[in-house]
Amino acid sequence: AEVTRFAPSPTGSLHLGGLYVAALARESAAVTGGVYLLRIEDTDKRREVAGAEAEFGRVFDYFGLAPDEGGTTGAHGPYRQSERAEIYLSHARDLVRRELAYPCFCSAEDLARGAREQQASRSPIGYYGKWAPCRGLSVARADARIAAGEPYTVRLRRPAGMPGRVRFRDRIRGSLTMLDNGNDVVLLKSAEAGVRLPTYHFAHVVDDHLMGVTLVIRGEEWISSLPLHRQLHEALGFRAPQYAHIAALMKVDGGSRRKLSKRKDPESAASFYVAAGYPARAVLHYLRGLANSRLAELPADEALATPVRLAESGLSGPLVDLARLRSLSRDHIASLPPREALDALRTWAGGHDPELAEVLARHGELAVRVFEIARRGTGTPRKDLACWSEFREAYGFFFPELHTPVRSPEDPRFGGLPAGAVARVAAELAAGAGLPGGAAGEAGEVPWLDRLRELAGRLGYAPDVRTYRAEPERYRGSVRDVANVLRVCVTGRTRSPDLFQVTGALGEAEVLRRLAPLAA
Ligand code: GLU
Repeated sequence: AEVTRFAPSPTGSLHLGGLYVAALARESAAVTGGVYLLRIEDTDKRREVAGAEAEFGRVFDYFGLAPDEGGTTGAHGPYRQSERAEIYLSHARDLVRRELAYPCFCSAEDLARGAREQQASRSPIGYYGKWAPCRGLSVARADARIAAGEPYTVRLRRPAGMPGRVRFRDRIRGSLTMLDNGNDVVLLKSAEAGVRLPTYHFAHVVDDHLMGVTLVIRGEEWISSLPLHRQLHEALGFRAPQYAHIAALMKVDGGSRRKLSKRKDPESAASFYVAAGYPARAVLHYLRGLANSRLAELPADEALATPVRLAESGLSGPLVDLARLRSLSRDHIASLPPREALDALRTWAGGHDPELAEVLARHGELAVRVFEIARRGTGTPRKDLACWSEFREAYGFFFPELHTPVRSPEDPRFGGLPAGAVARVAAELAAGAGLPGGAAGEAGEVPWLDRLRELAGRLGYAPDVRTYRAEPERYRGSVRDVANVLRVCVTGRTRSPDLFQVTGALGEAEVLRRLAPLAA
């Protein structure tokens, strides 16, 4: 069984790429009956963003990615690195005792001076060779400086004459050869307010070992650090885990590919999908399809039941296409039975749109009816919604509280029909008994259209668009213009679900109320 982890730093909101890696890590553990754990890597206090960790929790809950271990659950905690300072300290002490690490007293200015010299002599920048002054300090000398209260960091002592090339196996990339830069990297940063925190490199190696991680799934930006990580495992006497480095999510921008960017792309934030109410299933279906393209071709149920194969995920970053994600999401919402759709909508509204939640609670049966109409009985379901926040715009008009009556006959939604004609049609519709959708049921649909045709004929409109186009001089417009007056008054929209069913769901009194302001 595989133990995997997701190890975010709370330095901002969770990137979609993070969600992607987390989903792969969780699944890779689950298929082997293993454990997936969440570890918070908060060792960079300067870059920490308040509330980031809480947001991770909300996002993981939304996507059903709650970890098997993490927070207060599990025997390997604490799972927050800032609470593990003592653990790193004891391992660092051990390395120093064995002369595999040493205290370094170089100040930021010392390091900057070294870097300038290296640059001038065209040497790679880093702490090595003659630019590693503290490496040669005697233990007695170092102890004396520490005792005198000088600030220091702790650096790894890389073996002299290290092999330049190191080979690795990666679950995705197969055999890799990495060049090692041989730098004496910092393991422990200098103490701040009495606390000495580790760097990522050191902390994650210690934690992955102590937490029993067998497979590290992380972003490809860490590949170049593999030689260093291997050496840390060796120095600490740990068995190295296996690795799978995931390619970064990409986006097409002005014809070229680039990384999906936190700064430029709102859709790069995992919380974007939560706030907008994209169903978790649709997003996960989409992300799994990015990892294994064969899953993108399958219907959702099948795709979600088929395990992702890490080895099949690409070496180059997959392209994120919001339009494609939205289309999967539309399919998903359209496939939900009405009551399930309403439950999901309510859950989302409960957290994100309290007014809508209240309206839905007040009009429960009408809300079910809305989804029934969207599904059109046995016909093809409508695909109006890609996410729950689009409900108001698409279907809000069903609810009196969310409908803004159309008051002016000159409203552009009437498509340029003269104001007088709009008023006349509205008045005739309001006066006519038995409005469409009354008590007639499905069978009433034809008589309803007949009624509109009859009205259109009486008012001088053509019986259909084609006749009107053929002889525009004979008619004021077509029956479609007449229907459009009814549609715009009742729904506020020029496109809507079937008018007959809409008016039926609203009831005659409400339909008359909506026609009234126009029926001068
Ligand atoms: N804390 C690291 C990051 O946020 C995690 C890398 C890893 O998964 O090891 O990038």
